[in-house]
Amino acid sequence: MKFNYVIVGSGLTGAVFARLLTDAGESVVVLDRRAHLGGNVADEKHSSGIRIHTYGPHYFRTVSDSVWQFVNRFSHFHPYRHQVKSLVDGRLENWPIAESYIRRVCGDDWRPAITDSQPDNFEDAALSLMPRVIYEKFVKGYTEKQWGAPARKLAAQLCKRFDVRHDDNPLLTPKAKHQGIPADGYTAMMRRMLDGIPLRLGVDYLSHREEFRPRKLLIFTGPIDEYFDYEIGELAYRGQRRETTYVAEAGFAHPSAQINNPGDGAHIRDIEWKHLMPQRAASSANGTVITRETPFSPDDPQHYEYPFPDEINRTGFRAYQGLAEDEPGVLICGRLGEYLYFDMDHAIARAMELCKRVLTRSHQPGELTKDRVATS
Ligand SMILES: Cc1cc2nc3c(=O)[nH]c(=O)nc-3n(C[C@H](O)[C@H](O)[C@H](O)COP(=O)(O)OP(=O)(O)OC[C@H]3O[C@@H](n4cnc5c(N)ncnc54)[C@H](O)[C@@H]3O)c2cc1C
Repeated sequence: MKFNYVIVGSGLTGAVFARLLTDAGESVVVLDRRAHLGGNVADEKHSSGIRIHTYGPHYFRTVSDSVWQFVNRFSHFHPYRHQVKSLVDGRLENWPIAESYIRRVCGDDWRPAITDSQPDNFEDAALSLMPRVIYEKFVKGYTEKQWGAPARKLAAQLCKRFDVRHDDNPLLTPKAKHQGIPADGYTAMMRRMLDGIPLRLGVDYLSHREEFRPRKLLIFTGPIDEYFDYEIGELAYRGQRRETTYVAEAGFAHPSAQINNPGDGAHIRDIEWKHLMPQRAASSANGTVITRETPFSPDDPQHYEYPFPDEINRTGFRAYQGLAEDEPGVLICGRLGEYLYFDMDHAIARAMELCKRVLTRSHQPGELTKDRVATS
């Protein structure tokens, strides 16, 4: 059967496209090579009844009313505001770093280690926010484990993801207007988003290109370098190995959902899932479930999580972007297609915007691929 649009990937980018194109009366098929839908926001129930997120913790927040209205078509959200602690000198301290902690360690007249230059790498950017001793306790070890590279080799703009909390606010994203977790999980939300749309799971598009030729447009949300068969080399990614443990007798093991480990040991964080549940459900759950995450550099594209933030890979991506601009009838997008970390709300907003332009034909596919938004 022929479809106007073939969408590769049932993650947020593919599912938003599929829903909006279907709502506009277009015929669409969605393919995913995984055995489940939902891409990286998929979740599952542990045998204890506690819900865990298969590919790491996902808490939803957005400043956008239209994104919030869109996701609320498919799920009720229970209120949730993420909090993170860092294990520093044997104690759990706030993350992002509370200024009161810096004053305790460095005195009231503390200054950032770097004050007079335009930082051109992650380490200098972090040192322009805080004293070196604080950077070494909280940031350096975590970042170097996360990326498997010296902090001086990483992009300065990674620092935009955190700050020093001059008001000691312990919430990770206090300013986001809408925050929460889908009440019956992300997979259920994604299933409703894709309701009534033909979906083929366990199908790798790249091995079936001829079978799935769209009448109008192919929307590909997998890795851009894999689409081009690594013609100009592989882009680097980091992934996480996840080890999940059930503790039968515990109520809560930790004071917050996420405990960062910037110090000794290969792992970077522990997630205690019960914190993400509504309070009543969490207190009636038996025991607790904790997942330990340890970064690694995956060879298998199924484990690609974070695009690598350095100049070599940015240049490599731009070369692939050039190939994509010359590829007729294809739009390569999403976190793997645009080689960019998108928060969920950014992935949704980006797909909504691209879809509007696809439907109004106010583009050439190459143009959309070129017009990558910077979100982080
Ligand atoms: C560890 C981690 C934690 C995160 N936590 C948060 C959070 O707390 N809050 C937040 O807002 N955002 C979070 N995010 C970001 C969020 O996961 C992304 O915004 C979202 O997954 C983007 O969706 P996507 O559809 O672009 O990509 P994906 O979800 O990766 O979907 C791509 C899909 O395409 C499929 N695919 C790829 N190639 C092929 C092929 N050849 N054939 C068929 N199918 C294919 C894949 O199987 C996959 O299902 C997190 C990301 C990571 C990595």
